This record gives sequence, C-alpha cells and structure tokens, in this order.
Amino acid sequence: MESLNKMEVWFVTGSQHLYGEDTLIQVADHSKIITEGLDKSRKYPVKIVYKPTVKTADEIHKLCLDANHNENCIGIITWMHTFSPAKMWISGLTSLKKPFVQFHTQFNRDIPWSEIDMDFMNLNQTAHGGREFGFIGSRLRKERKVIVGYWEESEPQKELEIWIRAAAAWHDSKSMKIARFGDNMREVAVTEGDKVEAQIKFGYTVSGYGLGNLAKFFEDINESEIDELIRIYEESYILDEKLASKGSMRESLIEGARIELAMTKFLEAGGFKAFTTTFENLHGISQLPGLAVQRLMEKGYGFGAEGDWKTAALVRSMKVMSYGLEGGTSFMEDYTYHMDSENECVLGSHMLEVCPSIRNENSASLEIHHLGIGGKSDPLRLVFSTPEGKGINASIMDMGGRFRMVVNEVDVISPLEDLPKLPVARVCWKPLPDLKTSAAAWIYAGGAHHTGFSQAIATDHLRDFASMADIELVVIDKNTDVEDFKKELRWNDIYYHVAKGI
Ligand code: MN
Repeated sequence: MESLNKMEVWFVTGSQHLYGEDTLIQVADHSKIITEGLDKSRKYPVKIVYKPTVKTADEIHKLCLDANHNENCIGIITWMHTFSPAKMWISGLTSLKKPFVQFHTQFNRDIPWSEIDMDFMNLNQTAHGGREFGFIGSRLRKERKVIVGYWEESEPQKELEIWIRAAAAWHDSKSMKIARFGDNMREVAVTEGDKVEAQIKFGYTVSGYGLGNLAKFFEDINESEIDELIRIYEESYILDEKLASKGSMRESLIEGARIELAMTKFLEAGGFKAFTTTFENLHGISQLPGLAVQRLMEKGYGFGAEGDWKTAALVRSMKVMSYGLEGGTSFMEDYTYHMDSENECVLGSHMLEVCPSIRNENSASLEIHHLGIGGKSDPLRLVFSTPEGKGINASIMDMGGRFRMVVNEVDVISPLEDLPKLPVARVCWKPLPDLKTSAAAWIYAGGAHHTGFSQAIATDHLRDFASMADIELVVIDKNTDVEDFKKELRWNDIYYHVAKGI
C-alpha cells in the first residue's frame, strides 16, 4: 500500500491563445490556487500536481503522452477555466490511456452581480467551455467521470476523492501479480474464467504455483523469526489456552507461524499483491492456512479461497481504494440465512479466511479447532465479530463474453444471538432492499458466492472502478426491483455485445 505515497493525479487546465497573455496568466494563477487548495485539503490519498495550462493541440497531445508514460501518474483532472476548442483535444484524448475526470467547476463561486464586466466574462467560461470539452469526450466515446460543483465545497471534493481512490486501484491493478497455490476447487464454475481476457481487461497476471514452490521458503525460516511472530500473536490476540506456552497444541501455533512466515517471504520475493489457496491442494502443509491468510489480508494482500483469483484481485483493488479510511475490507462468502420473514439476515463467513480489518473493537481471539474439510491438522484462526454500519458486497464474474460486476449494499447488524459454538470470524447483514429481492437479483445476475466485503468504501468507488475497466456493473440497492433488474440484465447483454464489435 505504500505505493500510494508515490502516486500523482495531474490537474490540467485547458484554454487557448485567443484571450491574450494577461488572461492566460490569470488562468494559470487560478489553476495553481485550485490545485494547491485541493492538495492541501489532505482529503486525497495521493498527490494532486499542477500542470501548466494547455493551449494548443500539440501541448495537449504531449501532456497526454507524458501522462501515459509517467509511472506515478494515475490519471488526470481536466478543467476548462475558459473555452478550449475541443478539436484541439482529439489527438490527446484518443492517445490517453490513463483515466480522466472532467471537473466542471469555477474559480469563483458566485457571479459578482454589481461588478461583472466583459473581462470577467472572458475569463470565467466553465459553463460553456466545459460543454465544448464534454462534447468531444462523448463524441469519442471516452469513459470518464464528470463532477459538477464549486471546488471548495465538500460534495464535489468527495466525488473527486472517490474517483481518485478508484484510479489508484486501477493503477495498482495494471501491475498486480496474483499467485495461486493450487488450482480452482474441482468442479466449481464461478471461480473459473478467462485469465488472458482478465489480463487484457484489468492488467493483472495470474500465475499458478505448486506447494513445492513454497517448500524452500520454509527452509529459510529461523527460530528467532518464529519466536518474534509468536510474541506478536501473544500481544495482539486472546490466545486459546491450548496454544499458550505450556498448552497441549503449542506446536500447532509454532507451525502456524512458520506457514505465515513462509507465505509472506514467498509473496514478497515474487512481488505479489494477491493470492489464492485451495483446501484440495495442501501437499507439504500440515494445516489449512487460516491465521496466515487472515493476517496477510490485513496487511493489504488480496485473497480468494478455492483458487478464486478474480475475487483475490477484487479484494486487493478494494483494499487499495480504502487506503487510510475507517472500516475494513475482506474476502467474504454468503454462508447461511436467517429466513424468519420478520427479521431476515445473512450470516457471512468462510471456513477460516476473514480479514481482521473488519473486526470490531474487541480484540480477536486466536483459536484452534477441528475442520472437517481438507483432511489436515486442526487449523489456527482468528475469531471475531464485525461492527454495525453500512457495507457492500461485490463480485466479478466471467460471463463468457465479458466481465460483470455486481454490488449489493447491505446494513451490517449484530448477530441476533450469541454464537458460542461457531469457531470462525463472522458478519451479519441485512441486504438491501431485502433478502428476497437481493438474493433473487444477485442470482439472476450470476453473482458468485465469494465476494469482496467492505465497510470502508461504497458503491460509487466500484462504479468509478468499473467505468475505468470498462466492464458491466449492476447494483442491488434500496431501489432495486427484480423485474426491472432482469430487464437491465437483458439490455446490458445487447449493449455489451454490440459495443464490443467484432
Ligand atoms: Mn468458499
């Protein structure tokens, strides 16, 4: 996640030479003030960098090529303080590979009614300059975001922040490497997909490894590293007494620390940002990695169980979007329902692998229990609950001809009763608009059982991300009606078929 510290968004102001030098000096001064004002507001996870006003087609083209080639530039904010004839933008925008946002704002908030003269009118032309620029974006069918509002006000700044977070995740996705320990769970359909198409679309690479590849990283671990990690476990969690220093299963804790250290070293050595495991392939590992996966996710790695590389990538991207925000993000699965029609809810969890970033303030307990699946030794896991509040579940599926993202907004609630016998981390939620509508719509959309769950980001972050990736997005929220939703799916089938061409 430290990579966000290097990322930049460029603030680019469009104009032309028609107005003369004095006006252009004012344009530049104003755009510097806006850039610095936005950057210093410290609302953004990356730097916002001023770029000199572009006034000709050549300057615009060069700026767009520079943005493409600059490895820290994650996208550009465009602003038309004056009119900037949009034919000048054609060569630049057709070359631009980075996402862009059109900030339809004004340097001044108010019309100075008693003072306004033609000099003022010459300078403050966003209202029509932004329309000319908008036309060429639409004419070129460029995916972009349009934000309207006064730049010092919180609402447009918030919209910009959401877009920047999505752009950061998009930039990260372009160089993401995903390691798979073992293949997909046998016979499972939705976790499959076209990895070549995924790389073309999202930029990330997916590479498979045998557990043998991990073996040499076990050999390099020394005793002091294990002792240090166990000390961290003891300081951070409430330990099951069987795992305490004289406990009957202390050896399992030591083994768990070795698994975490080996996986960490493997992922760091390979520059991976996400990974998958599968309980069907644990050759050479004594227990299914639960604790290790949970702690790696908390450090920012994306994860998908049962070989689910698409969800691993999505969880990583959602973690990048949520950098520095309150609330966690985790791999998740709709596990089981409470179908009391008066009080319906979903219990979300997984066998072990839920990220502790979503735990409530009470510290997690580190426990060891038998697991019927996988046929290995009892695995370690952190057990905790999740705070109440708004959340989302998101999933990306390969529909054959394209990728579809589905998002469901949820209200996270406390479990209706204690769960004294459930030895895994869990989340309880009420899906919007209600369980019946949400589950039916999700199923019609072909949404997976695995999701990325977040209480840090919202639908709009994923909306901007889907726009950058140019993939289909369907949202299930408080307004969803199943019959309308089915129509949207049918229309989208036609749109994406036609829009793709041959
Ligand atoms: Mn699963």
